[in-house]
Amino acid sequence: MASNHDMKVALIGCGIMGAPIGGHILDAGFDLTVCNRTKEKADDLVAHGAHWADTPAEAAKAADVILTMVGYPSDVEDVYLSTDGLIRTARKGAWLVDLTTSSPQLARDIHDAAEVEDKHAVDIPVTGGESGAKAGTLTLMVGATAEDVAPIMPVLETFSDKVFCFGGAGCGQTAKLCNQVSLASCMVGMADAVALADQGGLDVNTVLDMIGGGMGSSRAVTELGPKVADGDWKPGFLAEHMRKDIALALAQSEDLDITLPGAENAFALYDMLCQIGGSRLGTQALALLYADEGEATAAGLDWSLLDMDDYAEEADDDSCGCGHDHEGHGHGGHDHDGCTCGHDHHDGGCGCGKHEA
Ligand code: NAP
Repeated sequence: MASNHDMKVALIGCGIMGAPIGGHILDAGFDLTVCNRTKEKADDLVAHGAHWADTPAEAAKAADVILTMVGYPSDVEDVYLSTDGLIRTARKGAWLVDLTTSSPQLARDIHDAAEVEDKHAVDIPVTGGESGAKAGTLTLMVGATAEDVAPIMPVLETFSDKVFCFGGAGCGQTAKLCNQVSLASCMVGMADAVALADQGGLDVNTVLDMIGGGMGSSRAVTELGPKVADGDWKPGFLAEHMRKDIALALAQSEDLDITLPGAENAFALYDMLCQIGGSRLGTQALALLYADEGEATAAGLDWSLLDMDDYAEEADDDSCGCGHDHEGHGHGGHDHDGCTCGHDHHDGGCGCGKHEA
């Protein structure tokens, strides 16, 4: 392995998180090649000295360390395991580092496939949000030991300041899902508090200030609460990605035979937000579910898209609360082929291909 700045780095996925991460890698003097599905999102990185590659395979071809920061487990699967995926096309000895929030089982599959090909694959999802990515202060959750990842720390340190190692493949993703279920309930708590303050005739910003100084605080309250008060729904973290993360956590809880009622509740709310057109808004848009219809419409939501059958079913004892039709896929409101709800929809699963094996 080349040392420090002789290391060639590739970055696949230059969205909200990937673009600032790439900026720090460039600022630290590494040779960086970037690839993104929508090329324009990498323009700034290329203007600052990154090389452009049309495909992940081309980006990876000469790289020592390949970072991926794509959206969904299905994107990760495609980038790593397809015929021209990284498992085949990266050079022998290369490090394949998935920063995406994805499935623990997929991370283990990728790790095992890479090992057979004499490559090192490790799951290292991150937390800290867009602000942490811009500041270069992300927290890393590593599915390996500190000793394992020592050779690539010079790259990882360019965009992170806290590293937690959880030992084995997939454990970084499981740790990230623990973070996400905690965050999901904090988001619901923040949205509840804002609604209660607003309807109770209190000044919302003063209430947020007050909560932020005590035990009720969270970064949902201190960072996202003020955005709600300002009517700022721009994404730092997409609502559809929160829905995906809670679904992954629910899938894992099912495997472990435990229930996560807070996460189930948050899933139902984020699923509702995504159904009515809020997928590409920031996670703070959860508060729009409590707002009057005029404000929701102005933000681009359409309550008529909600499939009320989902919620009628929730009243059934048989319902799991995920908001989906478990009896077959005769469901009108949203796309079951893309279902990531984390539940077994019938014996043998729903066939959506996104559930834990
Ligand atoms: P994002 O803005 O959607 O970025 C993902 C990028 O990956 C998009 O630009 C997408 O291209 C690109 N991409 C997807 N598949 C690709 C492929 N096959 N080849 C090349 N590029 C591909 O999302 P994000 O907010 O950066 O989040 C990325 C991941 O990190 C998600 O799993 C998310 O859950 C997680 N995460 C996000 C945050 C946050 O605060 N935003 C924090 C921690 C973790 P297009 O531009 O064409 O869509």
